[in-house]
Amino acid sequence: MSTLRFKLVEEAFKHKAVPVAEPVERPSEFYGKYVFNREKMFKYLPKKTYDKLVDLIDNNTPLSREVADSVADGMKRWAMELGATHYTHWFQPLTDGTAEKHDAFIEHDGKGGVVEEFSGKLLIQQEPDASSFPNGGIRNTFEARGYSAWDPSSPAFIMDKTLCIPTIFISYTGEALDYKAPLLRALNSVDKAATEVCHYFDTNVKKVYSYLGWEQEYFLVDESLYAARADLMLTGRTLMGHESSKNQQLEDHYFASIPSRVAAFMRDLEIECQKLGIPVKTRHNEVAPNQFEIAPIFEEANLANDHNLLLMSIMEKISRRHNFRVLLHEKPFKGINGSGKHNNWSLGTDTGVLLFAPGKTPQENLQFITFVTNTIMAVHKFNGLLKASISSATNAHRLGANEAPPAIISIFMGKQLTDILNKIENSATEEAILLDGKVGLKLGIAQIPELLLDNTDRNRTSPFAFTGNRFEFRAVGSSANCASAMIALNAAVADQLRQFKTEVDAEIAKGIAKEKAIFDVLKKYLKASEAIRFDGNGYSEEWKEEAAKRGLDCETSVPLIYDAYLTPESIKMFADTNVFTEVELHARNEVKWEMYTKKIQIEARVLGDLVMNHIIPVATRYQSSLLDNVYKVKALFPTDKVEKIAAQDMVLIEKIANHLSVINEKVTSMVDARKVANKIESEREKAIAYHDTVAPLMDEIRYHVDKLELIVDNEIWPLPKYRELLFIR
Ligand code: ADP
Ligand code: MG
Repeated sequence: MSTLRFKLVEEAFKHKAVPVAEPVERPSEFYGKYVFNREKMFKYLPKKTYDKLVDLIDNNTPLSREVADSVADGMKRWAMELGATHYTHWFQPLTDGTAEKHDAFIEHDGKGGVVEEFSGKLLIQQEPDASSFPNGGIRNTFEARGYSAWDPSSPAFIMDKTLCIPTIFISYTGEALDYKAPLLRALNSVDKAATEVCHYFDTNVKKVYSYLGWEQEYFLVDESLYAARADLMLTGRTLMGHESSKNQQLEDHYFASIPSRVAAFMRDLEIECQKLGIPVKTRHNEVAPNQFEIAPIFEEANLANDHNLLLMSIMEKISRRHNFRVLLHEKPFKGINGSGKHNNWSLGTDTGVLLFAPGKTPQENLQFITFVTNTIMAVHKFNGLLKASISSATNAHRLGANEAPPAIISIFMGKQLTDILNKIENSATEEAILLDGKVGLKLGIAQIPELLLDNTDRNRTSPFAFTGNRFEFRAVGSSANCASAMIALNAAVADQLRQFKTEVDAEIAKGIAKEKAIFDVLKKYLKASEAIRFDGNGYSEEWKEEAAKRGLDCETSVPLIYDAYLTPESIKMFADTNVFTEVELHARNEVKWEMYTKKIQIEARVLGDLVMNHIIPVATRYQSSLLDNVYKVKALFPTDKVEKIAAQDMVLIEKIANHLSVINEKVTSMVDARKVANKIESEREKAIAYHDTVAPLMDEIRYHVDKLELIVDNEIWPLPKYRELLFIR
């Protein structure tokens, strides 16, 4: 008897909403309580230090050791007043999530005691042992140690009585070993390139920001049931489990009222986030049962990304308080929707203009069309790379799975904008531009309707959609570090804008008027990038055929998708934008392939164990009880009756025997395939072997286990079933 499973289900049922300590204050009062923001800087730093620090943050000016010491001292005083005892450099290695090593604020005082100390040196730089983090061979090649270095553009914060200092993580020879360093480089590059292009329209622009508004989807499961699912615990997803008879068919979960246990969790989570300065704003149920979403107000991309990583770790912590476990995996359950993390992305100037929002004057609208067209062009050129930037072993289960973006990148522009772009593309410049005196554009560009700002014209099946004043990159996975996508996108757009500037300047140098030069180049781009624009159903089979005809990247094997980082075009683009050197690209791809292999390897092991220790014994036991029954029937009934009475049992016995024999055979093949793959030296080839030979066997094994789940007596089935995991009351 699987009494354990029933006991756990019973326990899960008993879990009630955990009351949240009502905050006495309003969010505006506790917001940012644990963040060393400008207000705290002003309060805790000498005026001179404050001015220097603000100048450093805003204008990237250098920082003297003296100022660093002064900042560190102020930070320490602030942190200690809030009860902090330790500090850590908080960084983003190439694994999932973040890393930190805590040190107490203590130093010998020379008299046998200690003093609390925190110097500028410790604030600016630390040396975590880089060899324990994935580095793709950079360390070995260069015999370089790694160090973490302070990123003053993202404010320090306190979590669990520890002062956390956001840092980049690089090798001594300067190669990035993390996500933040290249993200900062990409943001810098797009800032420079976009600012120059803005100068065609407004010479007052000094800086262009890249904005990110992520939408984090996640699942919750009851902690008791989670504990009985080794697969969820070790791999983040269920490796087996038959679909529940009811799941999302009735579409009764999306935007439905939030169960009280979950609402309590959300409130608790939001309060914690807001104390850490994360501007979370939106919450709702998602499409699948037990699936939810949380989204903040968008922020500058580096900060937004830090906040997303912070959110993910806070979620895990808070969920425990509510007897939940949060699942950030892209596809925890087969047969229902997976989780993504839409990245709403835009560019905006320091003069307050959103560059993807249509303006009021012809000038503003030409600027808008310029940025939109260059983005389309960048996504077209680098569609394979953008796909690589969001691809992982876990996200692969979601992409192309009929409810999520397809494994092909295309852009949705909506009808209105498509009409305008088509008109531009097909018009003769002469008829489009009035050069008589005042500059202006015909074709309705001057009067792009405000309606465009309206989001009604939405296409949920597009991986990259224009949504009024921004683009929404929907293919990003729920567990991913958004930086990966943001690095590729911002770098590609920066590169494209640089090229645009070169081409337009060349025309102008020939004596062609600026507006006409811009218009001509845009026209050319719109023609060249036609293939990437697609407003139809991205989930359909026809699109796959059509996309291949259009020459878009249709590769579905993750290890091969990663090759897009190493094409001559990508290498040149990343070098020209100063985002990655070729050495870094190669090293990082090694890490990507290695991570892919390891994820599949772990899953294959867990699946093998579960099948051998949980499923086969139970199925055999049930089969044997059926055999027992047949024996007894034979003993008691006349032979001519036996066949009829025991018929059903006989059928089941045979079915179980068939499933078990296939499972046994496939598990053996899977182990063999692993052994062969493990011997391969090249990380790329090994990952390909895992993709081609190991992963498919896991699917086959699962199929037969799920069939057994339907046959075997419910009383003895050991793993909590989907219907038990998926419906929080
Ligand atoms: P959806 O309807 O797509 O689910 P949500 O309200 O859940 O929208 O999330 C939209 C996200 O987009 C929010 O984080 C929001 O702040 C962000 N956003 C809005 N405008 C912009 C913009 N111009 N640039 C970047 N992000 C934006
Ligand atoms: Mg949303």
